Amino acid sequence: MSRQGILTVVSGFSGAGKGTLMKALLAGYGDYALSISATTRSPREGEVDGKDYFFVSTERFLDMISGEQLIEYAQYQDKYYGTPKEYVDRMLSEGRDVILEIEVQGAAKVRARYPEALLLFVTPPSAEELERRLKNRGTETAEQIAGRMSRAAEEAKYMPAYDYIIMNDKLDDCVKQLHSVIQNAKQSTSRCGAFMSRISNELQDLLKEEN
Ligand code: 5GP
Repeated sequence: MSRQGILTVVSGFSGAGKGTLMKALLAGYGDYALSISATTRSPREGEVDGKDYFFVSTERFLDMISGEQLIEYAQYQDKYYGTPKEYVDRMLSEGRDVILEIEVQGAAKVRARYPEALLLFVTPPSAEELERRLKNRGTETAEQIAGRMSRAAEEAKYMPAYDYIIMNDKLDDCVKQLHSVIQNAKQSTSRCGAFMSRISNELQDLLKEEN
């Protein structure tokens, strides 16, 4: 119906399972375009440059900011993270549904720049469960986990700015819910302006022809 794809921002507490959720969404419903962010943090074990992130130097990141190559950027645990603009705009204009998996400050910037963006916040069922998942992940030190828990408490304050809360309890259910929320949002009147004007004009033209 509408040629332009929908821009969806997915945020959530670190450890809420966003990464796994994104992989499952892409595997289950092939047509989403997941934006790859640039970051100045080092790769974790198993992460691949150009696939998980574009791992860049601080100097390169600052160049991307001054060259206006980023839609938004933010600092998280003393590292920069940002969304490259070219890919997102190209995918949207090709009618693809684009997903940005970014933190809360970046999400607010995306909303300011793309008011029609859909903002989703992923959360585990409880704070205890969040801490358990962070510990099980085994990629962070105790100090880093504590840092992520206190950051989560700060991020919780931003939840009311999102359109929907997505509870990640059972992965399969969560993926289905995520997909249907995104696809339903595409049918909202606020995102179907072009279609509504086209069909209204067609109706007027038909009426004129028939009179
Ligand atoms: P991690 O280091 O765990 O991969 O990511 C840390 C946080 O940075 C996560 O909340 C993630 O969603 C966020 N993040 C990843 N890419 C971007 C980005 O391009 N912009 C912003 N603002 N946040 C990002």
